[in-house]
Amino acid sequence: MELFGKTVCVIGAGIGGLTAALALRRLGAKVCVLEQAEAITEVGAGLQVSPNGIAVLRALGLEDALSARAVRARAVELRDYAAGQLVSHLDLSLLDGEAPYYFVHRADLITCLADAVRAADVKVLLLQKVNTVVPGARPKVILSNGAEMKPDLVVGADGLHSRLRPVLNGTIAPFFTRQVAWRTTVPNTIGHGPVAQVHMGPHRHMVSYPLRGGERVNIVAVQEQVGWSEEGWQIADDPDTLRRVFADFGGDARALLSEVTDVRKWGLFRHPVAPVWHKGNCALLGDSAHPTLPFMAQGAVMAMEDAWVLGDALQKAATIEDGLSQYQTRREMRTARVVAAASKNAWKYHLSNTPIRKIAHLGLRVASAVAPKKMMGQFDWIYRHDVTQS
Ligand SMILES: Cc1cc2nc3c(=O)[nH]c(=O)nc-3n(C[C@H](O)[C@H](O)[C@H](O)COP(=O)(O)OP(=O)(O)OC[C@H]3O[C@@H](n4cnc5c(N)ncnc54)[C@H](O)[C@@H]3O)c2cc1C
Repeated sequence: MELFGKTVCVIGAGIGGLTAALALRRLGAKVCVLEQAEAITEVGAGLQVSPNGIAVLRALGLEDALSARAVRARAVELRDYAAGQLVSHLDLSLLDGEAPYYFVHRADLITCLADAVRAADVKVLLLQKVNTVVPGARPKVILSNGAEMKPDLVVGADGLHSRLRPVLNGTIAPFFTRQVAWRTTVPNTIGHGPVAQVHMGPHRHMVSYPLRGGERVNIVAVQEQVGWSEEGWQIADDPDTLRRVFADFGGDARALLSEVTDVRKWGLFRHPVAPVWHKGNCALLGDSAHPTLPFMAQGAVMAMEDAWVLGDALQKAATIEDGLSQYQTRREMRTARVVAAASKNAWKYHLSNTPIRKIAHLGLRVASAVAPKKMMGQFDWIYRHDVTQS
Protein backbone atom coordinates (compact mmCIF):
# COMPACT_ATOMS: atom_id res chain seq x y z
CA MET A 1 0.00 0.00 0.00
CA GLU A 2 1.17 3.48 -0.78
CA LEU A 3 1.69 5.28 2.52
CA PHE A 4 2.55 8.54 0.79
CA GLY A 5 0.27 11.27 2.13
CA LYS A 6 -1.57 9.04 4.64
CA THR A 7 -2.02 10.79 7.97
CA VAL A 8 -0.74 8.99 11.05
CA CYS A 9 -1.16 10.01 14.65
CA VAL A 10 1.31 8.37 17.04
CA ILE A 11 0.39 8.58 20.74
CA GLY A 12 3.53 8.84 22.89
CA ALA A 13 7.02 10.21 22.21
CA GLY A 14 8.83 7.35 23.97
CA ILE A 15 11.32 5.00 22.30
CA GLY A 16 8.58 3.06 20.48
CA GLY A 17 6.58 6.10 19.36
CA LEU A 18 9.56 8.03 18.00
CA THR A 19 10.92 4.98 16.17
CA ALA A 20 7.48 4.32 14.63
CA ALA A 21 7.18 7.97 13.60
CA LEU A 22 10.50 7.72 11.76
CA ALA A 23 9.75 4.34 10.16
CA LEU A 24 6.38 5.57 8.83
CA ARG A 25 7.67 8.99 7.75
CA ARG A 26 10.40 7.36 5.72
CA LEU A 27 7.64 5.55 3.78
CA GLY A 28 5.98 8.87 2.96
CA ALA A 29 3.28 9.14 5.65
CA LYS A 30 2.45 12.51 7.23
CA VAL A 31 3.15 11.82 10.88
CA CYS A 32 2.23 13.69 14.01
CA VAL A 33 3.30 12.57 17.52
CA LEU A 34 1.17 13.50 20.55
CA GLU A 35 3.03 13.56 23.87
CA GLN A 36 1.42 14.32 27.22
CA ALA A 37 4.62 15.67 28.82
CA GLU A 38 5.82 19.25 28.41
CA ALA A 39 9.13 18.08 26.93
CA ILE A 40 10.57 14.94 25.42
CA THR A 41 12.54 13.84 28.45
CA GLU A 42 13.72 10.61 29.96
CA VAL A 43 14.51 9.22 33.36
CA GLY A 44 18.20 9.17 34.29
CA ALA A 45 18.80 5.52 33.61
CA GLY A 46 20.56 3.18 31.23
CA LEU A 47 19.42 0.77 28.57
CA GLN A 48 21.09 -2.20 26.96
CA VAL A 49 20.52 -2.11 23.22
CA SER A 50 21.29 -5.53 21.80
CA PRO A 51 22.21 -6.22 18.11
CA ASN A 52 18.57 -6.81 17.09
CA GLY A 53 17.74 -3.26 18.22
CA ILE A 54 20.83 -1.78 16.59
CA ALA A 55 19.74 -3.42 13.32
CA VAL A 56 16.63 -1.20 13.36
CA LEU A 57 18.57 1.95 14.25
CA ARG A 58 21.08 1.13 11.49
CA ALA A 59 18.28 0.76 8.91
CA LEU A 60 16.93 4.15 10.01
CA GLY A 61 20.39 5.71 9.62
CA LEU A 62 20.91 6.32 13.35
CA GLU A 63 23.62 3.85 14.34
CA ASP A 64 26.47 6.37 14.11
CA ALA A 65 24.61 9.01 16.11
CA LEU A 66 23.89 6.44 18.81
CA SER A 67 27.34 4.85 18.93
CA ALA A 68 28.90 8.30 19.44
CA ARG A 69 26.99 8.52 22.74
CA ALA A 70 27.09 4.87 23.81
CA VAL A 71 29.53 2.37 25.31
CA ARG A 72 30.17 -0.74 23.22
CA ALA A 73 29.49 -3.76 25.42
CA ARG A 74 32.20 -6.45 25.50
CA ALA A 75 30.80 -9.09 27.86
CA VAL A 76 28.24 -10.10 30.46
CA GLU A 77 29.75 -11.26 33.75
CA LEU A 78 27.82 -13.22 36.34
CA ARG A 79 29.28 -12.73 39.84
CA ASP A 80 28.55 -14.16 43.28
CA TYR A 81 27.26 -11.46 45.61
CA ALA A 82 29.42 -11.95 48.69
CA ALA A 83 32.90 -11.06 47.40
CA GLY A 84 32.04 -10.40 43.77
CA GLN A 85 33.78 -13.60 42.62
CA LEU A 86 33.41 -14.26 38.87
CA VAL A 87 31.04 -17.16 38.11
CA SER A 88 30.65 -16.88 34.34
CA HIS A 89 31.94 -14.64 31.54
CA LEU A 90 29.84 -14.40 28.38
CA ASP A 91 31.95 -12.90 25.62
CA LEU A 92 29.81 -10.66 23.41
CA SER A 93 32.48 -10.72 20.68
CA LEU A 94 31.12 -14.23 19.95
CA LEU A 95 28.22 -12.34 18.36
CA ASP A 96 30.65 -10.96 15.76
CA GLY A 97 29.13 -10.56 12.36
CA GLU A 98 26.04 -9.09 13.98
CA ALA A 99 25.45 -5.45 14.82
CA PRO A 100 27.21 -4.36 18.05
CA TYR A 101 25.72 -4.46 21.54
CA TYR A 102 25.62 -1.09 23.31
CA PHE A 103 24.99 0.39 26.75
CA VAL A 104 23.30 3.74 26.35
CA HIS A 105 21.71 6.40 28.53
CA ARG A 106 17.94 6.47 27.83
CA ALA A 107 18.06 10.24 27.38
CA ASP A 108 20.76 9.86 24.71
CA LEU A 109 18.70 7.35 22.72
CA ILE A 110 15.63 9.59 22.99
CA THR A 111 17.68 12.62 21.86
CA CYS A 112 18.96 10.70 18.81
CA LEU A 113 15.44 9.65 17.86
CA ALA A 114 13.88 13.07 18.56
CA ASP A 115 16.53 14.89 16.48
CA ALA A 116 15.91 12.53 13.57
CA VAL A 117 12.14 12.85 13.88
CA ARG A 118 12.29 16.65 13.77
CA ALA A 119 14.74 16.60 10.85
CA ALA A 120 12.30 14.34 8.99
CA ASP A 121 9.52 16.91 9.34
CA VAL A 122 7.41 14.97 11.79
CA LYS A 123 5.22 17.20 13.98
CA VAL A 124 5.77 16.56 17.70
CA LEU A 125 3.01 18.18 19.77
CA LEU A 126 3.81 18.42 23.48
CA LEU A 127 1.35 18.76 26.37
CA GLN A 128 -1.22 16.81 24.35
CA LYS A 129 -2.71 14.13 26.57
CA VAL A 130 -4.94 11.67 24.75
CA ASN A 131 -8.10 10.74 26.63
CA THR A 132 -9.41 8.03 24.37
CA VAL A 133 -9.55 6.76 20.81
CA VAL A 134 -12.56 5.64 18.78
CA PRO A 135 -11.50 3.06 16.16
CA GLY A 136 -13.01 3.23 12.66
CA ALA A 137 -12.22 3.82 8.98
CA ARG A 138 -11.19 7.32 10.14
CA PRO A 139 -10.35 6.71 13.81
CA LYS A 140 -11.00 9.58 16.21
CA VAL A 141 -8.37 10.69 18.76
CA ILE A 142 -9.92 12.66 21.62
CA LEU A 143 -7.56 14.80 23.68
CA SER A 144 -8.11 15.77 27.31
CA ASN A 145 -8.50 19.42 26.26
CA GLY A 146 -11.50 18.39 24.13
CA ALA A 147 -9.72 18.68 20.76
CA GLU A 148 -10.20 15.86 18.23
CA MET A 149 -8.14 14.51 15.35
CA LYS A 150 -9.17 12.12 12.56
CA PRO A 151 -6.08 10.59 10.95
CA ASP A 152 -5.98 7.57 8.63
CA LEU A 153 -4.08 5.55 11.25
CA VAL A 154 -3.52 5.77 15.02
CA VAL A 155 -0.50 4.11 16.66
CA GLY A 156 -0.81 3.71 20.43
CA ALA A 157 2.79 3.85 21.66
CA ASP A 158 1.64 5.18 25.02
CA GLY A 159 3.40 2.69 27.24
CA LEU A 160 2.32 0.71 30.30
CA HIS A 161 -0.74 2.83 31.09
CA SER A 162 -1.95 2.99 27.49
CA ARG A 163 -5.30 4.61 26.67
CA LEU A 164 -5.67 2.59 23.47
CA ARG A 165 -5.01 -0.85 24.99
CA PRO A 166 -8.27 -0.98 27.03
CA VAL A 167 -10.26 0.31 24.03
CA LEU A 168 -9.13 -2.76 22.06
CA ASN A 169 -8.93 -5.28 24.90
CA GLY A 170 -10.99 -4.14 27.87
CA THR A 171 -9.21 -3.81 31.19
CA ILE A 172 -6.90 -6.66 32.16
CA ALA A 173 -5.38 -6.26 35.64
CA PRO A 174 -1.67 -7.03 35.96
CA PHE A 175 -0.38 -8.93 38.98
CA PHE A 176 2.44 -7.97 41.31
CA THR A 177 5.41 -10.31 40.93
CA ARG A 178 6.54 -9.68 44.54
CA GLN A 179 9.70 -8.11 43.18
CA VAL A 180 10.86 -4.51 43.27
CA ALA A 181 13.61 -2.81 41.30
CA TRP A 182 15.67 0.22 42.27
CA ARG A 183 17.33 2.13 39.47
CA THR A 184 19.91 4.87 39.54
CA THR A 185 23.21 5.98 38.02
CA VAL A 186 26.43 6.78 39.92
CA PRO A 187 29.86 8.18 38.99
CA ASN A 188 32.25 5.49 37.77
CA THR A 189 34.70 5.65 40.69
CA ILE A 190 35.63 1.97 40.37
CA GLY A 191 36.79 1.96 36.74
CA HIS A 192 33.87 -0.27 35.74
CA GLY A 193 34.85 -1.86 32.41
CA PRO A 194 32.58 -2.15 29.33
CA VAL A 195 30.75 -5.19 30.67
CA ALA A 196 27.37 -5.83 32.28
CA GLN A 197 28.00 -7.27 35.75
CA VAL A 198 25.18 -9.32 37.28
CA HIS A 199 25.77 -9.66 41.04
CA MET A 200 23.70 -12.66 42.17
CA GLY A 201 22.56 -13.11 45.78
CA PRO A 202 19.80 -14.88 47.70
CA HIS A 203 16.44 -13.31 46.79
CA ARG A 204 18.22 -10.35 45.17
CA HIS A 205 20.43 -9.37 42.25
CA MET A 206 22.02 -6.20 40.98
CA VAL A 207 23.04 -5.32 37.40
CA SER A 208 25.65 -2.64 36.67
CA TYR A 209 27.13 -1.33 33.43
CA PRO A 210 28.90 1.85 32.27
CA LEU A 211 27.29 4.74 30.37
CA ARG A 212 28.42 7.89 28.58
CA GLY A 213 32.01 7.04 27.68
CA GLY A 214 32.35 5.21 31.00
CA GLU A 215 31.78 8.32 33.12
CA ARG A 216 28.76 6.88 34.89
CA VAL A 217 27.49 3.46 35.90
CA ASN A 218 23.87 2.35 35.63
CA ILE A 219 22.49 0.28 38.51
CA VAL A 220 19.34 -1.84 38.56
CA ALA A 221 18.90 -3.71 41.86
CA VAL A 222 16.08 -6.24 42.29
CA GLN A 223 14.70 -7.76 45.48
CA GLU A 224 11.94 -10.28 46.10
CA GLN A 225 9.58 -8.77 48.65
CA VAL A 226 6.35 -9.83 50.27
CA GLY A 227 4.63 -6.44 50.55
CA TRP A 228 3.08 -4.51 47.68
CA SER A 229 4.88 -1.75 45.78
CA GLU A 230 3.66 0.76 43.21
CA GLU A 231 4.35 0.41 39.47
CA GLY A 232 5.97 3.57 38.15
CA TRP A 233 9.37 4.92 37.27
CA GLN A 234 9.41 8.14 39.26
CA ILE A 235 8.86 6.97 42.84
CA ALA A 236 11.79 8.22 44.91
CA ASP A 237 13.28 6.08 47.68
CA ASP A 238 15.95 6.61 50.33
CA PRO A 239 19.43 5.47 49.12
CA ASP A 240 20.08 4.10 52.63
CA THR A 241 17.15 1.71 52.24
CA LEU A 242 18.75 0.35 49.08
CA ARG A 243 22.14 0.02 50.84
CA ARG A 244 20.49 -1.75 53.79
CA VAL A 245 18.73 -4.29 51.54
CA PHE A 246 22.04 -5.09 49.77
CA ALA A 247 24.28 -4.73 52.87
CA ASP A 248 25.76 -8.24 52.47
CA PHE A 249 26.82 -7.60 48.83
CA GLY A 250 30.60 -7.14 48.55
CA GLY A 251 33.08 -6.37 45.75
CA ASP A 252 32.11 -3.84 43.09
CA ALA A 253 28.45 -3.98 44.12
CA ARG A 254 29.19 -2.55 47.55
CA ALA A 255 31.53 0.14 46.17
CA LEU A 256 28.90 1.24 43.62
CA LEU A 257 26.08 1.29 46.17
CA SER A 258 28.14 3.55 48.44
CA GLU A 259 27.97 6.23 45.67
CA VAL A 260 24.16 6.32 45.40
CA THR A 261 22.67 9.71 46.27
CA ASP A 262 19.27 9.46 44.58
CA VAL A 263 17.22 6.41 43.62
CA ARG A 264 13.83 5.41 42.16
CA LYS A 265 11.93 2.31 43.28
CA TRP A 266 9.55 0.45 41.03
CA GLY A 267 7.16 -2.46 41.69
CA LEU A 268 7.48 -5.17 39.03
CA PHE A 269 4.13 -6.28 37.61
CA ARG A 270 3.42 -8.98 35.09
CA HIS A 271 1.00 -7.93 32.32
CA PRO A 272 -0.39 -10.39 29.81
CA VAL A 273 0.45 -9.69 26.17
CA ALA A 274 -2.60 -7.93 24.66
CA PRO A 275 -4.73 -10.43 22.70
CA VAL A 276 -5.93 -7.71 20.29
CA TRP A 277 -3.31 -5.38 18.83
CA HIS A 278 -5.40 -3.64 16.18
CA LYS A 279 -8.93 -2.67 15.19
CA GLY A 280 -10.44 0.03 13.00
CA ASN A 281 -7.13 1.53 11.79
CA CYS A 282 -5.64 1.69 15.30
CA ALA A 283 -2.67 -0.37 16.49
CA LEU A 284 -0.76 -0.93 19.71
CA LEU A 285 3.05 -0.86 19.78
CA GLY A 286 5.77 -1.48 22.41
CA ASP A 287 4.81 -1.61 26.09
CA SER A 288 1.17 -0.83 25.32
CA ALA A 289 0.94 -4.23 23.58
CA HIS A 290 3.48 -6.34 25.49
CA PRO A 291 4.95 -4.84 28.66
CA THR A 292 7.81 -7.01 29.88
CA LEU A 293 9.82 -7.47 33.04
CA PRO A 294 13.35 -6.07 32.68
CA PHE A 295 15.18 -9.44 33.05
CA MET A 296 16.01 -9.84 29.35
CA ALA A 297 16.66 -6.09 28.74
CA GLN A 298 14.43 -6.24 25.65
CA GLY A 299 11.43 -3.92 26.26
CA ALA A 300 12.74 -0.91 24.32
CA VAL A 301 14.36 -3.11 21.70
CA MET A 302 11.05 -4.95 21.09
CA ALA A 303 9.32 -1.56 20.67
CA MET A 304 11.90 -0.61 18.01
CA GLU A 305 11.41 -3.96 16.23
CA ASP A 306 7.61 -3.43 16.31
CA ALA A 307 8.04 0.02 14.74
CA TRP A 308 10.02 -1.32 11.80
CA VAL A 309 7.67 -4.26 11.18
CA LEU A 310 4.61 -1.98 11.38
CA GLY A 311 5.95 0.15 8.51
CA ASP A 312 7.03 -2.87 6.48
CA ALA A 313 3.70 -4.71 6.93
CA LEU A 314 1.68 -1.64 5.94
CA GLN A 315 3.80 -1.07 2.88
CA LYS A 316 3.35 -4.66 1.70
CA ALA A 317 -0.42 -4.86 2.36
CA ALA A 318 -3.41 -3.88 0.22
CA THR A 319 -5.17 -1.93 2.99
CA ILE A 320 -4.37 -0.49 6.42
CA GLU A 321 -6.42 -3.21 8.17
CA ASP A 322 -4.58 -5.91 6.19
CA GLY A 323 -1.25 -4.36 7.09
CA LEU A 324 -2.17 -4.16 10.78
CA SER A 325 -3.27 -7.78 10.77
CA GLN A 326 0.07 -8.81 9.18
CA TYR A 327 1.87 -6.67 11.76
CA GLN A 328 0.26 -8.50 14.69
CA THR A 329 0.88 -11.90 13.08
CA ARG A 330 4.56 -11.10 12.54
CA ARG A 331 5.11 -9.73 16.05
CA GLU A 332 2.95 -11.51 18.59
CA MET A 333 4.77 -14.85 18.91
CA ARG A 334 8.20 -13.28 19.19
CA THR A 335 7.19 -10.68 21.76
CA ALA A 336 5.24 -13.26 23.81
CA ARG A 337 8.34 -15.49 23.84
CA VAL A 338 10.53 -12.62 25.05
CA VAL A 339 8.00 -11.68 27.76
CA ALA A 340 7.87 -15.32 28.93
CA ALA A 341 11.69 -15.63 28.93
CA ALA A 342 12.02 -12.43 30.99
CA SER A 343 9.42 -13.67 33.48
CA LYS A 344 11.34 -16.92 33.97
CA ASN A 345 14.77 -15.31 34.32
CA ALA A 346 14.80 -13.64 37.75
CA TRP A 347 14.78 -16.76 39.92
CA LYS A 348 17.99 -17.98 38.25
CA TYR A 349 19.87 -15.07 39.79
CA HIS A 350 18.16 -15.33 43.20
CA LEU A 351 18.98 -18.86 44.42
CA SER A 352 18.82 -18.73 48.21
CA ASN A 353 19.76 -22.29 49.16
CA THR A 354 23.57 -22.22 49.55
CA PRO A 355 24.42 -25.76 48.29
CA ILE A 356 22.08 -25.38 45.29
CA ARG A 357 23.54 -21.95 44.51
CA LYS A 358 27.07 -23.36 44.61
CA ILE A 359 26.20 -26.23 42.29
CA ALA A 360 24.38 -23.89 39.88
CA HIS A 361 27.31 -21.46 39.86
CA LEU A 362 29.78 -24.30 39.27
CA GLY A 363 27.65 -25.44 36.32
CA LEU A 364 27.69 -21.93 34.86
CA ARG A 365 31.46 -21.58 35.40
CA VAL A 366 32.20 -24.89 33.65
CA ALA A 367 29.77 -24.22 30.78
CA SER A 368 31.18 -20.76 30.04
CA ALA A 369 34.78 -22.10 30.14
CA VAL A 370 34.17 -25.28 28.12
CA ALA A 371 31.45 -24.22 25.69
CA PRO A 372 31.34 -20.42 25.49
CA LYS A 373 29.76 -20.42 22.02
CA LYS A 374 27.00 -22.72 23.25
CA MET A 375 26.39 -20.46 26.26
CA MET A 376 25.99 -17.43 23.97
CA GLY A 377 24.05 -19.50 21.41
CA GLN A 378 21.08 -19.73 23.77
CA PHE A 379 20.42 -16.04 22.98
CA ASP A 380 20.71 -16.36 19.18
CA TRP A 381 16.93 -16.34 18.73
CA ILE A 382 16.86 -12.87 20.29
CA TYR A 383 20.08 -11.16 19.20
CA ARG A 384 20.55 -12.64 15.71
CA HIS A 385 17.02 -11.79 14.62
CA ASP A 386 17.06 -8.87 12.18
CA VAL A 387 13.56 -7.56 11.42
CA THR A 388 14.92 -5.29 8.69
CA GLN A 389 15.88 -8.36 6.62
CA SER A 390 12.53 -10.17 6.71
C1 LIG B 1 14.40 -1.02 35.28
C2 LIG B 1 14.18 -1.10 33.78
C3 LIG B 1 15.23 -1.48 33.00
C4 LIG B 1 15.02 -1.63 31.63
N1 LIG B 1 16.09 -2.00 30.87
C5 LIG B 1 15.91 -2.17 29.54
C6 LIG B 1 17.02 -2.50 28.70
O1 LIG B 1 18.17 -2.62 29.17
N2 LIG B 1 16.80 -2.68 27.36
C7 LIG B 1 15.54 -2.55 26.82
O2 LIG B 1 15.40 -2.74 25.60
N3 LIG B 1 14.47 -2.22 27.58
C8 LIG B 1 14.61 -2.01 28.91
N4 LIG B 1 13.55 -1.66 29.69
C9 LIG B 1 12.19 -1.56 29.09
C10 LIG B 1 11.96 -0.30 28.30
O3 LIG B 1 12.36 0.83 29.01
C11 LIG B 1 10.48 -0.18 27.89
O4 LIG B 1 10.03 -1.42 27.40
C12 LIG B 1 10.36 0.88 26.80
O5 LIG B 1 10.70 2.16 27.30
C13 LIG B 1 8.93 0.93 26.23
O6 LIG B 1 8.85 1.95 25.27
P1 LIG B 1 7.47 2.51 24.79
O7 LIG B 1 7.78 3.53 23.77
O8 LIG B 1 6.54 1.39 24.43
O9 LIG B 1 6.80 3.19 26.09
P2 LIG B 1 7.33 4.38 26.99
O10 LIG B 1 8.79 4.51 26.94
O11 LIG B 1 6.67 4.20 28.32
O12 LIG B 1 6.72 5.70 26.30
C14 LIG B 1 5.35 6.02 26.35
C15 LIG B 1 5.19 7.51 26.05
O13 LIG B 1 3.81 7.81 25.90
C16 LIG B 1 3.48 8.97 26.63
N5 LIG B 1 2.06 8.86 26.98
C17 LIG B 1 1.51 7.96 27.83
N6 LIG B 1 0.18 8.13 27.91
C18 LIG B 1 -0.11 9.17 27.08
C19 LIG B 1 -1.33 9.83 26.74
N7 LIG B 1 -2.52 9.44 27.24
N8 LIG B 1 -1.30 10.86 25.85
C20 LIG B 1 -0.10 11.27 25.31
N9 LIG B 1 1.10 10.69 25.62
C21 LIG B 1 1.08 9.63 26.49
C22 LIG B 1 4.41 8.93 27.83
O14 LIG B 1 4.57 10.21 28.43
C23 LIG B 1 5.70 8.42 27.18
O15 LIG B 1 6.48 9.46 26.65
C24 LIG B 1 13.74 -1.42 31.05
C25 LIG B 1 12.68 -1.00 31.83
C26 LIG B 1 12.91 -0.81 33.18
C27 LIG B 1 11.78 -0.26 34.01
